[in-house]
Amino acid sequence: MEKVSLIVERLDGYSQVARYAFLSYPRAMTSEEKISLIAARLQDRYGPVEVCRRDPVEELITTILSQNTNDRNRDRAYASLMDRFGSLAAVKDASPDEISAAIRIGGLHRQKGGRIKQALERIAAERGKLDLSFLGDLSLEEALDWLLSFPGVGRKTAGIVLLFSFDEPYFPVDTHIARVTRRLGIVGPREDPHARMNRILPKDPHFMRQLHLHLIRLGRDVCRPRRPECGRCPLADLCPSAESILASG
Ligand code: SF4
Repeated sequence: MEKVSLIVERLDGYSQVARYAFLSYPRAMTSEEKISLIAARLQDRYGPVEVCRRDPVEELITTILSQNTNDRNRDRAYASLMDRFGSLAAVKDASPDEISAAIRIGGLHRQKGGRIKQALERIAAERGKLDLSFLGDLSLEEALDWLLSFPGVGRKTAGIVLLFSFDEPYFPVDTHIARVTRRLGIVGPREDPHARMNRILPKDPHFMRQLHLHLIRLGRDVCRPRRPECGRCPLADLCPSAESILASG
């Protein structure tokens, strides 16, 4: 009884769905049930996130720029690229050194400059123009394979292009999502987070986009790599890691 009232107290302020979904599960939840409850809690905490659909080539280049840096530096690097060259077509014709110099603010600029040059040249050579709209005519697996064949493009980058530019149901996992889902016990210590999350999530692109953005926000604000703040986490009563983290001070 005491445990139930503690849970009710913790859930105070949440929507009916996020509040009572948990209380109506006296048995152990399946991963799918847990995911839908987590999504409802995060929706309550952070609200809906507005997502603008970007051109897929721009999304690909932006995502390459985002590797190993934060959103602010990614945006500054992209703005600097556009200030310097004016268009992605002009970036394609620039030398890797010129591209690297323009994106220095984003970190790993030499590596990223080479990858951006290679990606733009290959798209233009294979498609005749800087246009990836043909990916929308392929199956999800074919589109994923095509994007993964680019140097430096992994499943996170390919997934972001497919989910955010093509409305395809593929869930990209970044470093924050990998850490949070492992702590939550949704992904096992030796499991591949992309394979696991894409197996258990509903094939709903809108649901995936919101959950992707909400889990990243939770990972940055609360479930940080060091010193996660379980005491103010909306998922603490669902998280098998919370007790030991709280006990360790
Ligand atoms: S309870 Fe703690 S470990 Fe679990 S998700 Fe929240 S912040 Fe992370």
